[in-house]
Amino acid sequence: AGKKNLESPKKRMKSAAPVSGKQHAIQEQRKLLPIAQGRDALIHEIRENDVTVLIGETGSGKTTQIPQYLLESGLAGKGMIAVTQPRRVAATSLANRVAEEKNTEVGKLVGYSVRFDETSSEATRIKYVTDGMLVRELLSDPILSRYSVIIVDEAHERTLRTDILMANLKAIQQKRNKPTDRKGKGPAAALSPLKIVIMSATLDAEKFSSFYNKAKILYVKGRQHPVTIYHTATSQADYVDSALRTFFQIHTDRPPGDVLIFLPGQEDIEGLSSSIQLYANRLPQATPGVLLCPLYAALPPGQQTKIFSPTPKGMRKCILATNIAETSITIPGVKYVIDTGKCKEKRYIARSVGSGFDTLLTRDITKSSAMQRAGRAGREGPGFCFRLYTEDAFKNMPLSAEPEIRRCTLTASLLQLKCLGQDLEELEFMDKPDEENILSALAALYILGALDDKKALTKNGRDMAFLPLEPYLARVVLAARELGCVREILDIVSVLSSNSKLFFDSADQRDAALEARTKFRHSSGDHFTILNVVRSFDEIAKTETNAGKKDWCHKTYLNFRCLTEAVAIRTQLKEVCERMKIDWTASCGDNEQPVLRSLVRGLVQNAAFLQPDGSYKQVMGPSIVKIHPGSVLCDKKIPAIIYDELVYTTNIYARGVSAVPRSFIAEVPVLNHRKA
Ligand code: ADP
Ligand code: MG
Repeated sequence: AGKKNLESPKKRMKSAAPVSGKQHAIQEQRKLLPIAQGRDALIHEIRENDVTVLIGETGSGKTTQIPQYLLESGLAGKGMIAVTQPRRVAATSLANRVAEEKNTEVGKLVGYSVRFDETSSEATRIKYVTDGMLVRELLSDPILSRYSVIIVDEAHERTLRTDILMANLKAIQQKRNKPTDRKGKGPAAALSPLKIVIMSATLDAEKFSSFYNKAKILYVKGRQHPVTIYHTATSQADYVDSALRTFFQIHTDRPPGDVLIFLPGQEDIEGLSSSIQLYANRLPQATPGVLLCPLYAALPPGQQTKIFSPTPKGMRKCILATNIAETSITIPGVKYVIDTGKCKEKRYIARSVGSGFDTLLTRDITKSSAMQRAGRAGREGPGFCFRLYTEDAFKNMPLSAEPEIRRCTLTASLLQLKCLGQDLEELEFMDKPDEENILSALAALYILGALDDKKALTKNGRDMAFLPLEPYLARVVLAARELGCVREILDIVSVLSSNSKLFFDSADQRDAALEARTKFRHSSGDHFTILNVVRSFDEIAKTETNAGKKDWCHKTYLNFRCLTEAVAIRTQLKEVCERMKIDWTASCGDNEQPVLRSLVRGLVQNAAFLQPDGSYKQVMGPSIVKIHPGSVLCDKKIPAIIYDELVYTTNIYARGVSAVPRSFIAEVPVLNHRKA
């Protein structure tokens, strides 16, 4: 055996051949996308115009191809191209796809940046980012000087961050593209010009165009096949059950073709997924197997690839998705769509009735969503859409949703704008935020000590904005810095910032879960219980493999995904702390008081006092709340509590509860202030 035998030639060929075969297929597929025909015309228009609005059918290739066209044509110059997405799972999945199309790994030429996860490098030229991350970048680089092109994708969703970004981009472009006096020769020497491309799947181009001074509108023609739409005769009481029955009707009666089911959220997706699995296992041998693919915002990147891989012969793929599959992510092979007609919507519950925080509510979709959902069945051939609602219900749907800026909490955004020296009242938005909503954001920031009584940003406020956390959690961390318990607080805050819940607490498993988790229970409440869980998990993680950790979580009814994510978030937060010179190793040992005090500082708006009848009355609001049955403090009578959030069912429940001394609440400066 010679020196060269380190890698056998046979093995090398084996791995090389399929890759290039796959590359070839990918490049062929790219050429067939509807957008490919318009490539040169699109490049030309974008080159000629500072702002372009691009409308095109979902799946036509906007998000994956346009950035590549611009890069290939040299339009980006030396700068980077940013493509914004409202959801993190779309940003990571699309970056992976485009990296693959470029025959490279994600993080090199093509990267992504989402909260708590950045995969990019010096070499990155195309970056998929969440709209929130780009707004955050404004804090360190107010004119976004690293980017020469910014593509605002999925603009029709009108998320709060997208709206804030669009307002800022307008101002930034005016600065960067201003011609200099030097004989009117091109843009200012120091600033390179910025190109803006607004992309949307729906026909609402006019509004974007007029916001950007009558920007040019381009249309990409799609290839939509006819879709036969069925409505139910009567309204369905249980949409999950109805979806289950509809799926099996399709599966047993209809020819091959994959099924896409739209559901409001992760819980319904997981519930329906296990029901389908259960029934599928009982089907006669001859029936094709079912390949289940869940798709929702918090789906870990490793599981995303399964959705796009070809359906194995003799199987039917069943994708269970939230509205993320409406326009952001196109899955090939779908012939049947089941539309429950439901989605989750973030909505602000005003302080006068609730918590002053956003709550995710399940609600009916809009006409525009319903049409998009149906359209997903007709991408590759004639398809079928089964709406689990009546035709009248469809006719009565509102045309499109209200933009988030009109219905979500503005606290975090206001804080970021304050750091940029801007104000919600002054910035030019596509839709103006509500007066009352602005006032309540101002009040919340004042209570957290981020603004002073003249609405000016404080040192604390600036530090809060630097932490990639909700303002109230950022305040908790800053309080922990003063009180010397950052280590404990980071453990807790990381879990609270995760995209999924730590405790499985569905009503039917509640008793077993509480039993299995007895050893973590802490008399102070749920926050210390979380701390106990994290400490045990860290202990387990020292010796166990992933499988072992998963098993441990399963036995204790804990969410493995939440814990792994929390550990990753904690690592990120430690790095941010180091940059801010916050000592994250500071620990208060067995003393619980500093931890509770820190929590109260951030959660003071969520404090409630016990009433004679055993319920709790909010200190800073009018609501009467009960402790959630999943809390370790349920059924206890505690003089004063703080909580993470409110859950609205038949009662208003406080979830994530800790018992605190009344004096801790009274000592928060703002409350003294108010009384004075
Ligand atoms: P648009 O933005 O116009 O809706 P996209 O650029 O997202 O269209 O999609 C173009 C094509 O790329 C679609 O056929 C889609 O299925 C495919 N695609 C996107 N992401 C992936 C992925 N991760 N794996 C495989 N194919 C993908
Ligand atoms: Mg797209």
